[in-house]
This record gives sequence, C-alpha cells and structure tokens, in this order.
Amino acid sequence: MGKTERVTEVASIVNEAREVLRDGFLRADAGITGGNFLIAETGSVALVTNEGNGDLTNTLPRVHIVTAGIEKVVPTLDDLSVLLRLLARSATGQEASVYTTLSTGPRRADDLDGPEAFHVVLIDNGRSQWLGNEFRDMLRCIRCGACLNHCPVWNSIGGHAYGWVYPGPMGSVLTPLMIGLEEGKHLPNACTMNGRCQSVCPMSIPLPNLLRKHRFRLHGQALDGRGARLALKLWGALAVRPRWYRWLTRIGTSLLGILGGKRGRFRYLPLARGWTDSRDLPAPHGQSFVAAWQRQNNKRVRPSERCA
Ligand code: SF4
Repeated sequence: MGKTERVTEVASIVNEAREVLRDGFLRADAGITGGNFLIAETGSVALVTNEGNGDLTNTLPRVHIVTAGIEKVVPTLDDLSVLLRLLARSATGQEASVYTTLSTGPRRADDLDGPEAFHVVLIDNGRSQWLGNEFRDMLRCIRCGACLNHCPVWNSIGGHAYGWVYPGPMGSVLTPLMIGLEEGKHLPNACTMNGRCQSVCPMSIPLPNLLRKHRFRLHGQALDGRGARLALKLWGALAVRPRWYRWLTRIGTSLLGILGGKRGRFRYLPLARGWTDSRDLPAPHGQSFVAAWQRQNNKRVRPSERCA
C-alpha cells in the first residue's frame, strides 16, 4: 500500500487498519491461532477474543492451524460453558467475551466460508512432567489474568519488566518451568507473598505456595548466588533473635529514611543498583513495620488497659 494521508481520528485509524489488514487476511495461505480450550467430546477448538482478529485468522485463510498446550483440553461442552463464564468474569469483568468461536474442522461442502484444511498442534513443552510433580496445580490456569491485575508488584513495574512472555504471578510460576530455573531464577523472587493472586484466582491455584517451591528449589540447587545465601543466613540468625531484629531494623529504616531526604527516594543505592540503574527506589518512611504496628496498637488500647 502506498503512502497515505496521516489520520488522527480514532475511527479513521481503525478504518485504515481495517483496509490494510483485511487484504492481508484475504491473501494469506495460512492463519495461526491459539486456542483457549479444546473440547474432547466434539474435537472443537474454542477461541475467545474481544477484538475479532482471531475470527478473521481462522476463517479467511486457506489453512487454519491451531497451537495449544495439552492442558487446554476439557472433556465436554458443559465443562466449556463453566470455564467460559469464569474466564470472561475474571479477566475483564464481562458476563461473556465479545467473540467466542468454536471451530470443528475444515469447511464443509455447503459452508459459506472457513478454511479448506484445519490442523491442531498440541504442545507439551514440559507440561506432562508437571502432571506428576508439585507444580501440577499450575495446569489448571485458564490465562484469565486476574492474578496479574491484582498483583501490587505487577501494578508497580508493568508487564514488560518480567522479560518473558507470561508476566505476573502466573508467569513467575510458569516461566521457570518452561525455560529452566537457572534462567528464570529472578521471577519467583519478584513477589511479596501477600497472597492476593491466590485469593482472586478462579481456579484456586496456590500461586504463593508454588512460588515458594521454586525458591526452595533455587536454594537447594544453590542457584540463588553467594550474596543472597549470605544475606539469608544473616536474616535467619536475626529472625530467631527478635530483640536484635527489631533494634537493627529500627536503626536501618531510620537511617534510610534520613538518607532518602525530602524526596523520599534514592536515585542511587550501592546495594540496590539493579533497581536504581533504571528507576528510583522509595526510601522507608523512617519506621519499621513492627514499630508502626506497635504504635498504632498502643493508640487503640486505652492507657488504663495497657500492660505495665
Ligand atoms: S493463575 Fe489463576 S488468576 Fe492467574 S491467569 Fe491463571 S487462572 Fe487466572
């Protein structure tokens, strides 16, 4: 397509995209889609989208190829109806997604449209191993994204910061399983263990627990690095001496609070360079969590009720 006049109105941009892309869909030899669910009872593939490009891909080209993980197979259409409701409500809060398409083979003689050939490629990529191990629960994931949307870490740093295809809590469990723990070792540690992801997951996947299992493995295989192991040992020694722990954290947080100055943020911190190289680090407010909790609790208890 030659150079066209620059358009800025949303409707014009959409029309231009439609004009350019539609021709590509019509001329394509093959369209490749994923599949949200595969239904064993009928041999169908369910594709759920809110935009409709998926339907252009599976209807217009001569060949439709579906690639989907083996965990996407559900037994019956009744099972599908339950999962479709869960998916839409957990993902975007809709009662149903805008487009839900079931493809069951190539175009029949009296069909008006559809591909001449239809292929489904089932992907294992390690999934059958998880079936028999402690990460089995992860195979229930329907990729609704609720855990991402409610994760405070994901909300602060965004999806691209994770560096892999699947971001957020579910990605931090899945990615190390797919690419190996050594390569994905930072992901299970990018979590505060607040448990919000598990409480919103429609499939009741124990995400914090699975992340913890990755951490155990990391530590067991000594993949967490010398510095981290030393820090953990130090923390372990302090954690069993609560007085020391409180005293040191009080000093540390006060000091960092003062060093953070009026801005309340660090542009550079020697021990946190991985963070401060590309963003500011918020300084503590000058009080440890335990001290703040104690202060708040003391306020709530009337002086006459306080222990001596
Ligand atoms: S882990 Fe749960 S909440 Fe997260 S995408 Fe999967 S099903 Fe949705």
